Amino acid sequence: MTVSADIFRRHNGELWMEDVALSAVAERFDTPCYVYSRAALESVWRRYDRAFGARRHRVHYAVKANGNLAVLDTLARLGSGFDIVSGGELARVVAAGGEPAKVVFSGVGKSAAEMRAALAADIGVFNLESASEMERLNRIAGESGRRARIAIRVNPDVDAKTHPYISTGLNENKFGVPMTEALALYRRAAALPNLHIIGVACHIGSQLTDLTPFADAMARVMALVKELKTAGIEVEHVDAGGGLGIRYREEEPPAIEDYVAVLCKAIPEPYEICIEPGRSICGSAGVLLSRVEYLKETPTRRFAICDAAMTELIRPALYEAWHEVQAVGTEAAAEPELVYDLVGPVCESADFLASGRKLRLREESLIAIMSAGAYGQVMASNYNARPRPPEIMVDGAVMHLVRPREDLQDLYASERLLPKAQ
Ligand SMILES: *Cc1c(COP(=O)(O)O)cnc(C)c1O
Repeated sequence: MTVSADIFRRHNGELWMEDVALSAVAERFDTPCYVYSRAALESVWRRYDRAFGARRHRVHYAVKANGNLAVLDTLARLGSGFDIVSGGELARVVAAGGEPAKVVFSGVGKSAAEMRAALAADIGVFNLESASEMERLNRIAGESGRRARIAIRVNPDVDAKTHPYISTGLNENKFGVPMTEALALYRRAAALPNLHIIGVACHIGSQLTDLTPFADAMARVMALVKELKTAGIEVEHVDAGGGLGIRYREEEPPAIEDYVAVLCKAIPEPYEICIEPGRSICGSAGVLLSRVEYLKETPTRRFAICDAAMTELIRPALYEAWHEVQAVGTEAAAEPELVYDLVGPVCESADFLASGRKLRLREESLIAIMSAGAYGQVMASNYNARPRPPEIMVDGAVMHLVRPREDLQDLYASERLLPKAQ
């Protein structure tokens, strides 16, 4: 899916987001910076919600894709639930006004402290991923005087055909419980006094551009649901996870409506269908704005050295991900179109944003790295003592600064010198 054409458009050759020129964002907040479109976030979330029609469903936005409070606030106002993978993400959801009752807690390594916090907040459901985790949650729920609602995340062993680093549904991955062990684990859960089984969950990977793995996974999950029923264990919901891809380059990800139709077909009434989309909600809604510092030629390559780096967008370095790069303005329109490697100032050869791109550039050109709304800022680091950039939410003609740029002092404000004379 792609964000509707009216979110990004060109006015007199200049790139705009909604009713704001991206050059105006750079002028006001400097570069690098992340810019998100509220309208884009809302339109994708609503498409998911509407696609279910009358089917009982819940959309839990996966916070790890972009956890900025304004993003969470935008979605919470639409009634979204949230998929979290840490106590930190729970705190963000609560701070943004999200409802704990609509929170799903995923992840293979929930700590005791995180479980306590989630029980105290009375979250909707824990998606459990191992026998040990189940025993721990039962014990902590007992100590907290609560009964934890749980689902077990099973691993349906389907090949999501995505990058190996973002594939999670194969038996070789660390995620989920093997199908062959699921029934025994559910039996154990049913016998534990402080757990209340309400669902079954799976999540097979990210950036999926084909519906077949989803359909295959759901078929296996429904076979388990049947087995459970025979064993006297009833679930209320089936959580299909997230993972629907977006268009970065030439991918043709399925339409949201087609994806939802596959789920509705695979998961019959009366089960409630839960989903946990992350990237597909916020990925195309954001850009990373950067300025070209220097153009530099070596005997074999032509570099555009930008003020953004792997510290702001690690996806190219980590997964060799491809992000479209667009010139924001027209100042370099008369320059020859040349092939550039776009790199950052960080002292690593892996520090690249894009390679082999035909662009018209000048020093100080403003560029937009597209589809940077998901797994961008959340994976940012302070490596090389680089302050993390600001985040701006565009809403119509208004720019909201939703996180200011870090100061240099912020980077070491909590560090300590050694005591004097030692
Ligand atoms: C990462 C993750 C998601 C979101 O994945 P996207 O590809 O961003 O949609 C959903 N559920 C779980 C359990 C995850 O780990």
